[in-house]
This record gives sequence, C-alpha cells and structure tokens, in this order.
Amino acid sequence: MVWINLRLRRQKIDPTSRRSAIQLQVKTILNIVQRFVGFVYRQVQLHCPAKSAPSIEILVEPHRGIRGRCSHCQKPAPGYDRQPERRWLFVPLWGIETHFRYAPRRVNCPEHGVAVEYIPWSEGKRPVTLAMMGFLARWARRLSWLETARAFQTSWEMVYRSVQWFVEWGLSQRDVSGVKSIGVDEIHWGHGLRADNFLTVIYQIDAECRRLLWVGRRRTQATLRRGLKVLGPDFATKLRFVCSDMWKPYLKVIAAKAPQALNVLDRFHITGHLNKAVDEVRPSREWTAEDRGGQKEVEAHALAVTPEGKPGARSGSPETERLGGQQTGHGARLGVEGVFLSLLEV
Ligand SMILES: [Zn+2]
Repeated sequence: MVWINLRLRRQKIDPTSRRSAIQLQVKTILNIVQRFVGFVYRQVQLHCPAKSAPSIEILVEPHRGIRGRCSHCQKPAPGYDRQPERRWLFVPLWGIETHFRYAPRRVNCPEHGVAVEYIPWSEGKRPVTLAMMGFLARWARRLSWLETARAFQTSWEMVYRSVQWFVEWGLSQRDVSGVKSIGVDEIHWGHGLRADNFLTVIYQIDAECRRLLWVGRRRTQATLRRGLKVLGPDFATKLRFVCSDMWKPYLKVIAAKAPQALNVLDRFHITGHLNKAVDEVRPSREWTAEDRGGQKEVEAHALAVTPEGKPGARSGSPETERLGGQQTGHGARLGVEGVFLSLLEV
C-alpha cells in the first residue's frame, strides 16, 4: 500500500526551473467547488493498493475557531465529544474513487441536548456526500440507472437512492401556488389492460412553465382525487383551465373539485371518438354533404365547455358520458351530425 500526499504547499521559485511558483493542488480545487464554512480540508491522499484500483481520501477537520452546529437547529453549540471517523463517497476525481473522511463532533445544544453536529455535505447516515448524490441523479436523467452506476463505479442501489433523495429535495422546494392551468391524462404502462397498467398524470401547462406535477397508479376517480390532494388543499380551487380527455372518472372529479375552471377537452381524443362514431354510423345510412361539412368544422377545433354556459356537457350529461365511456348503439344511431351537435349541446 502506498500513500501519496496531495497537499497544498507553496513552492520556492527555482531559477533553474520554469515551473510556476504556485502549483495547483486538489485542495485548491475543493475549496473552490465545495467550500464548507467551519471545516477545512486537512489532507488529500492518493491510496494505491498493489492489486486493486487506486482511491483518493480527503481528510476533513473542523475549523479551530468555529464551533460546531446542532444538526436539529443548525445553531452553534458547545462541543461535547467526538464520534469515530466516517467515510462518505464523493464525486470521483479523474475517474478515481474518492471519499471524504471525517470524525463528527457531538455538541451540547441548549435546546436539543447532546446531538451530532450539522455536517453540510451529509444527509443522515447515508455514506454518500450530497455532491455525489446530485452528480448521480443528474447523470441518471441522461443514462439508465444501471449505466450510470457502471460509469461511475457504484451500485444501482446508490443511483436509485440518489435519485430518490434528489426528487424528495425537489418536491420539498416546489411551489405550486401559481399554477393556473393543468393537463390530466392517462398513460398506458407495462403490458395488458388491467387497471394497474394505467397511470394518471397531472402536469402544468401554463405558458411560462410546463412541468410534470404528479403521477399515480390507475386512472380512477380516487387516483385523480389523491393527486389533487397531494398538490395542496387550495390547488384545485385556484385553477383556471383543466385540459383532459373525455375519460368519465376524470371529468367527474374535475367538475367536483375545480368547478370554476374551464375544462378543455383535447382535440386528439375528440377526433378519435368522432371518427369512431362515424365508422359506426357509416354502414347504416348514406352521407350527405351537410354531414361532411359538420365533421370538418368540429375536427378543426378543440372543444371547450363551461359549467356556466353548458352545465350538462361538462360531465354527467347523457351525451358526454356516452362519449366518455363506451359508444352505445343509441349513440351510433344519432348519426354523425346528431353526435356532434349533442356533444356541443348547440
Ligand atoms: Zn439545537
């Protein structure tokens, strides 16, 4: 085993050499990219075992003039004792596995009693630095989790935990108070058509911000209610627009939870239902020029129905419910013009 110190040191100018007076050291880089108030990088060592891959160990020490902080309230507190040294996996440097090493202090907080100090690069008992978790989570957006683990010499489990931590952190920071418009949709997931093979997705579609807000298993009323509840007690009541397909359970929940919002039924699903209705009608009657004109006109526009103007069309009307669910024989017998007009209720 060989230990090589990569220490920060100022070298004297050698007149026979053309090297710069100050050599770049690993600690210099660390102090630029990962500087922690109250802590210092004491030493950086390259560990070169004979028969395995090298590793870098970064020894961290508390700053002598700064007291430790309580991990509960982050207020400075008198020192109590010191715990055994721990190791945290850091972002690999030049592809070499890198660890932080530090013996945490315990402090005697006036409010919380004896507690482990606040360690800014650590989250609970995880043996990974926050920098490494953020690093893995960002790469996991570009590569599969398995590929990410292989590329950075870590485990799939570590990538999974990192993504989980990153998502939880992001959700805790998320602000949905300004969301005015949402889309609600179902996604087929996996194989088969069982209830568990569908997901309900809620996403923000405001012009200034489009983002995924929530995903839940199944496509029932309970699923959508659960999603709206997670987004906050006032979330649904502040919406102005909800874009959805004609899936009846969604329409019912939207009508109940966001009655003030304009429910926009998206064009893709409307034209799909209309074409289906047309196919059913076609064998039963001759088309007229008037029918074809009506179809083109309706296909050219998404349909918006307001609770004030057309309360029946929003949900619960026989026409809308028929289109939201299965096409019945009666719906087909209405004929294409009748279906369009009854859908619009004009
Ligand atoms: Zn405290």
